[in-house]
Amino acid sequence: MLGLMQDWPLRCHRIIDHAALFHANREVVSRSVEGPIHRTTYAAIRTKALKTAQALEAEGIRVGDRVATLAWNTGRHLEVWYGILGCGAVYHTVNPRLFPEQIAYIVGHAEDRVLFTDLTFVPLLEKLADKLPTVERYIVLTDAAHMPQTSLKNAVAYEDWIAGFDGDYAWKEVDENAAAGMCYTSGTTGNPKGVLYSHRSNVLHSMAALQVDMLGLSSNDVVMPVVPMFHANGWSLAFGMPMAGSKCVMPGAKMDGASIHELLESEGVTCTAAVPTIWLMLLQHLEETGGKLSTLKKVVIGGSACPRAMTKKFQDTYGVEVIHAWGMTEMSPLGTLCSLKPAYAKLTGDARLDVQEKQGHPPFTIEMKITDDEGNPLPWDDKTFGRLKVRGPAITSSYFKGEGGEILDEEGYFDTNDVGTIDQEGYLRITDRSKDVIKSGGEWISSIDLENLAVGHPDVAEAAVIGIAHPKWDERPLLIIVRKEGREVEAGDILDFMKGKIANWWMPDAVAFVDEIPHTATGKIQKTTLREQFHDYKFTDA
Ligand code: ADP
Repeated sequence: MLGLMQDWPLRCHRIIDHAALFHANREVVSRSVEGPIHRTTYAAIRTKALKTAQALEAEGIRVGDRVATLAWNTGRHLEVWYGILGCGAVYHTVNPRLFPEQIAYIVGHAEDRVLFTDLTFVPLLEKLADKLPTVERYIVLTDAAHMPQTSLKNAVAYEDWIAGFDGDYAWKEVDENAAAGMCYTSGTTGNPKGVLYSHRSNVLHSMAALQVDMLGLSSNDVVMPVVPMFHANGWSLAFGMPMAGSKCVMPGAKMDGASIHELLESEGVTCTAAVPTIWLMLLQHLEETGGKLSTLKKVVIGGSACPRAMTKKFQDTYGVEVIHAWGMTEMSPLGTLCSLKPAYAKLTGDARLDVQEKQGHPPFTIEMKITDDEGNPLPWDDKTFGRLKVRGPAITSSYFKGEGGEILDEEGYFDTNDVGTIDQEGYLRITDRSKDVIKSGGEWISSIDLENLAVGHPDVAEAAVIGIAHPKWDERPLLIIVRKEGREVEAGDILDFMKGKIANWWMPDAVAFVDEIPHTATGKIQKTTLREQFHDYKFTDA
């Protein structure tokens, strides 16, 4: 017997409809790419999204076509995001920090027909245009007054392009399983691969992510997504904020410490989210200026491991709660968040930080397991490392155009390529990416744990650990350090600082100092480049 409930397909544009009705005047504030602060509302965003959908359809864009955006977080980006998916097309957020050849590759692979771009990226696209044969028109996210002279094909200023449309448009009633969005993983090995989100997966993921133990956003929150919309589905905040009716503050192109701090304070932001490198810049700025965080309550930190020292600083010095999060493009992207369940809620001091160093527990909709290399499940004892595998309605089942072949195991789990432990409470601790874990004498050493510990030293700006071939142990850890400006710290000082805080056999065999550690387009330490750089490195006693 079937239930007698209504069939109400989970389509993403219902989210902006909801916001425009029930949170109509809630503000969306942006630092515009042109410069000034721009204010609009969810109701106005919806109207412009409708015009965008109308204009795209007039352009010949049909259900399932891919439409790219190369843009910062702004209200306009939000308008076209909903406009694209609202006409049944697929928003494809392109990361402008990728190498130009990678951008050309993914735009070609996705067969993007229209490309929305911020002013910032017009020069980049002009150089690249020859290599983007699928793009029929470029729409510059600006108005006539700021529109530059450009050689880009059929280029038009966005505000002009939609000006002729009235927004009298009915969203396309696609199947809830139809594609709505797409994002390529940055492809640390091989070419980037496309992850294709559906309307249903986005809606379910955002609802799961909004739970109190997860992002916990409410209509009283003022949310600033610093994490770009082009990074891993924007951590689903473009859906979560309007779904909850939170005020939205978009930082545009400026993500330095001073600019972020200014917006946090001037707009009364209560919750924000980004990768650790952003918070490093903010904390440095606050240290230099003596600035305060007077309204911020919660900062979500993920994308790479949040160092303990950062959590401590936010919480003890600024009274801001840190929520450590883990996820990946393939998971829409949130996997776990480290809110404190009753078993941990009363912990204080170091014991609390010990838990917060973990990546946390998943919401309903995500199943997890850790296995050995043969696929046998491993115990949840907080100690045993295993390959982390996940299953759920917002987790990819295969990559676009079948790249990478079959990616699920026989039980339908996706191998995250992360290695971690799970504790008795179901809290995940990521110890490494499977290719970065250091294999010493048949045991595994976590490069992330060593890095987190080393950055706790007051003279260390950044730390990376890679495995170096060793005749006896197979691999041993090399600690690579960037000193804070003007500091003189030496190898022995750092190793002394680490001693006693980890097992002796985990201690790095040597420390190398560098001026800079290379980063990927999403702000992560680029271990592949470091491994090339230290390819010929030999330990002196090996
Ligand atoms: P890309 O690989 O393209 O940079 P993703 O955002 O999809 O983009 O990367 C996901 C990966 O980032 C995860 O598989 C994991 O290795 C790493 N990661 C994300 N969050 C954390 C975290 N909190 N701690 C440690 N690693 C993390």
